[in-house]
Amino acid sequence: MPVPGLGPYDDQNIFAKILRGEIPCRKVFENEVALAFHDIAPQAPVHVLVIPKGRYVSQADFAATAADAEIAGFVRAVATVARELGLESAGYRTLSNMGVHGGQEVPHYHVHLFGGGPLGRMIALS
Ligand code: 5GP
Repeated sequence: MPVPGLGPYDDQNIFAKILRGEIPCRKVFENEVALAFHDIAPQAPVHVLVIPKGRYVSQADFAATAADAEIAGFVRAVATVARELGLESAGYRTLSNMGVHGGQEVPHYHVHLFGGGPLGRMIALS
C-alpha cells in the first residue's frame, strides 16, 4: 500500500479532484499557484487547507521539485489567506503533515491553517 506523502503523485487523490472541479469545495482563495478552501472536518473555529496547484505529494516533494517562484508564491498565498480571513491580528497556526508519522492522509501537499480562537497546546501525542 502506498505511503501518503511518498511515492508517485496519484491523480485520483481527493485534492486533485477538487482542483479539477470534480468535487466541490468551499473556496476562500485562489491564484495562479494556490487554492484554499475550508476543511470538511474542521478542528478549529477556522480550519482552511491551502494547496499548491502543482502535482506534489508532500512538503518534501514540493521543497525538492517545485520552482522557486512557485514556492515563494505558495508561502505568500498562505499568509495572504490568513490575512484575508482576518486571522493575522489575533494570530493563527499553520501545520503540514508528512508521511506516516506526520499522519498525512491526502497525498497532495497541503498546509492546514487554524485560527479563530485560542489553539491550545502546539501538539498532543495520542
Ligand atoms: P492530512 O491528514 O492529510 O494532513 O489532512 C487532510 C485533511 O483533508 C483532513 O483535515 C480532512 O478533514 C480534509 N479532507 C479530506 N477530504 C476532504 C474533502 O473532500 N474536502 C475537504 N474540504 N477537506 C477534506
